[in-house]
Amino acid sequence: MNTKQHNDKPEIILTGDRATGSLHLGHYVGSLKQRIALQADHEQTILVADMQGLTDNAHNPKKVSSNILNVVADYLAVGIDPSKTTICLQSQLPALAELTMYYSNLVTISRLERNPTVKSEIQNKGFERSIPAGFLTYPISQAADITGFNASLVPVGDDQLPMLEQTNEIVRKVNSLAGRNVLSECRPLLSNASRLPSTDGKNKMSKSMGNAINLGATEKEISAAVKLMYTDPNHLKVEDPGKIEGNVVFTYLDAFHSDQEYVKQLKEHYRRGGLGDGTTKKVLEECLQETLRPIRDRRRQFLNDKAQLVDILVKGSQVSRAKTSEVLFNVKDIFGLNLF
Ligand code: ATP
Ligand code: MG
Repeated sequence: MNTKQHNDKPEIILTGDRATGSLHLGHYVGSLKQRIALQADHEQTILVADMQGLTDNAHNPKKVSSNILNVVADYLAVGIDPSKTTICLQSQLPALAELTMYYSNLVTISRLERNPTVKSEIQNKGFERSIPAGFLTYPISQAADITGFNASLVPVGDDQLPMLEQTNEIVRKVNSLAGRNVLSECRPLLSNASRLPSTDGKNKMSKSMGNAINLGATEKEISAAVKLMYTDPNHLKVEDPGKIEGNVVFTYLDAFHSDQEYVKQLKEHYRRGGLGDGTTKKVLEECLQETLRPIRDRRRQFLNDKAQLVDILVKGSQVSRAKTSEVLFNVKDIFGLNLF
């Protein structure tokens, strides 16, 4: 993975997850695996986005507060190492909220309403005309998160591409006001499974839609989810030729199976006919059980020591407060507001 800049300094990475639930398989293949690979030789920060989680959960704040440590335990369970990656809590970094306020003056309401991810989320959440202002403006707060760390590389799923586009628009406006490059533009790092579908194949797997296989899922939950997985509705008999496109079992085999040559053979057999959904599901179930068993065990152990998880957040937030305050100072300077 070549992520080096021209001057050979490793790029600064910022990414994060809303504290709206435990992390799931979509996070694992969409972004967590990249973060694990990059942490050894990059300056990487991961933000637990509790404030962003409140933008659609203010009526139920416990949903957010009670999931903060679950998310941290998920990070550690998959192999994020706090001695290599800074893990911090968004609400502990007031500079990010201040940056959001300054950036808000550079973005129009109509631009916010055009963001395709926000548009579809508004529809899915049934907000209609009662959209919380914080929800409509969360792409601005995300721009504050990314620029607050001066990040240029952001490992994300593809639903986040419109957020990065909006971030770069803000960066260009700030830099043009300053007459020099105060902030860096960022680029996404997408995996080859940047939008893992839910098991019914209808939507992106999401914490908020109740359609996820969590990293802490039990053996039974995994087994039940695979059994209900959407395949090819026209593949009625084993001997019928089957379709791979849109067949969620194969999408997951592509994303998770360690032997892609074997997956290729399975696909050819399925297309030809003679391979039943029961068999492909069995292969997938074994692979998911194997992937999640050690993660589930480690997750449980980490959750047994909540003080350790809090300590990681405290230390990471302290380091991050210094970084984000520096960026805030530079942005305030552009507006002539560092009077004293
Ligand atoms: P919520 O439903 O609360 O929005 P979520 O499941 O969408 O939760 P986020 O916290 O919004 O998760 O996303 C965190 C990161 O994980 C983002 O980079 C996002 O693009 C990525 N991600 C989330 N779901 C998937 C998915 N199904 N496939 C690939 N990447 C994903
Ligand atoms: Mg999301």
